[in-house]
Amino acid sequence: MSVIIIEGVLFVALIAAGGALLYWLILYFTPMGVRLRQTSNRKRIERAAETVCSVHGPLAEDQLVRLASGEQVCPDCYKEILNA
Ligand SMILES: [Zn+2]
Repeated sequence: MSVIIIEGVLFVALIAAGGALLYWLILYFTPMGVRLRQTSNRKRIERAAETVCSVHGPLAEDQLVRLASGEQVCPDCYKEILNA
């Protein structure tokens, strides 16, 4: 009984390893992988740019305030807007 369970677990692990290898090959050795990496680079840089306030400088992403419209604002700028 335990042999069947071990065989099933090993089969699932083989499928997962094969999928991971295929994903890695596509990501690093195909033109589509280059496109995916370029897109992720753009998103990473845009995310980093969104966390820099032009007045108060760079902030951590979890410090930002999300407005009801979905836009992210520096917490100090948000306090200034509220107190104005
Ligand atoms: Zn600010």
